[in-house]
Amino acid sequence: MRRIDHPLLAPSLGCQKTLSSWHFGTAPTGDNPAQKRPKVYIQASLHADELPGMLVAHHLRSLLEAADALGDVPGEVVLVPVANPIGLAQRVDHRPMGRFDLDTAENFNRHYPDFVGALFDHLRTAFTHDAASNVAMVRQALRDQLQRWTPTTELHSLRHTLLGLAHDADYVLDLHCDCEGALHLYTEEACWSALEPLARRLQCAAVLLAKNSGGNPFDECLSGVWWKLADACAAAGLQVPLPQACCSTTIELRGEADVCHSLAQTDAQAIFAFLHDMGVVRGAPLSPLLPPARPLPCQPTPLAGSQTLHTPVPGVVVFAAQVGQRLAVGDLVAEIIDPLSRHTHRVEAGVAGVLYARIRDRYVHAGGELGKIAGATPFRTGALLGA
Ligand SMILES: [Zn+2]
Repeated sequence: MRRIDHPLLAPSLGCQKTLSSWHFGTAPTGDNPAQKRPKVYIQASLHADELPGMLVAHHLRSLLEAADALGDVPGEVVLVPVANPIGLAQRVDHRPMGRFDLDTAENFNRHYPDFVGALFDHLRTAFTHDAASNVAMVRQALRDQLQRWTPTTELHSLRHTLLGLAHDADYVLDLHCDCEGALHLYTEEACWSALEPLARRLQCAAVLLAKNSGGNPFDECLSGVWWKLADACAAAGLQVPLPQACCSTTIELRGEADVCHSLAQTDAQAIFAFLHDMGVVRGAPLSPLLPPARPLPCQPTPLAGSQTLHTPVPGVVVFAAQVGQRLAVGDLVAEIIDPLSRHTHRVEAGVAGVLYARIRDRYVHAGGELGKIAGATPFRTGALLGA
């Protein structure tokens, strides 16, 4: 195991933050520059006020250290327990402000670069009929793109550093949480078959699938390269093999207040079991730690079928439905109480499915969001992620 500290660009005189990564397994060296595989990249709390992942990383690190000490990490696992030191330091009026960069108002998990156009222009005449060499070429071209990018702001240097660590991984796990939520994950359709064992290990209450959610989040910047390049090749009539060589996911570890050792240990063991399933870690000595495999408790649903519930009136929120609860159309989700008029507004489920997230505050303005239901029928278009 080794720790690498990555200084970020200093935004102001006398002020510099550092991103730290832990590397388990056989890292490539100057003598043997080939990346050992599988490579897995795991980061926590890119939205810096979403803390369950940070505690999961803390427990996962112990498991990885034990495996590494036994020589049981044949590839490489990169762990970044604090993926956003910029957001973690932001507070306004005594409250953490970890989702948006206060300097630019940008969401820390949006606006990642889309490399596909440049990669396709560069590689379209270089692709071969050998899938492995095509994968190696794309990864090298991606590395070259990152090396040509010179960040000029602290936020860009954070994005550049995270992509530098993750760009050539076979699997990318981005640990987030919702305000209040049942454990769920987002991934792109092209990644689902590879990540279904992870969803089973985590016992996800909902799985949201999309093909390009919009907004360029971190996970889709990495997985999107592969299916978009494959689509571009097909559209250009190029018959070349290009597998989905990076499968990435955003894992929502319940709600912001669900920070406790028992949940974090369970989640860390589930992720570790997935790594074991995939051959990222191996070895009998750790096997007793692995929980038994269980069936997935939900069917994956399209992100375009997820209903975000809103209220047309302001008031005090009294939830009737709990996160993780399966709802039918018309079921009561919440009442919005106006104590001045004594009017009660009912908010009902518009689609059938699991209520996988709720807001944390108990007062809403008119038009405000209340929660999200994983419906099975797509009905939304355009940008599918929230602010
Ligand atoms: Zn998040």
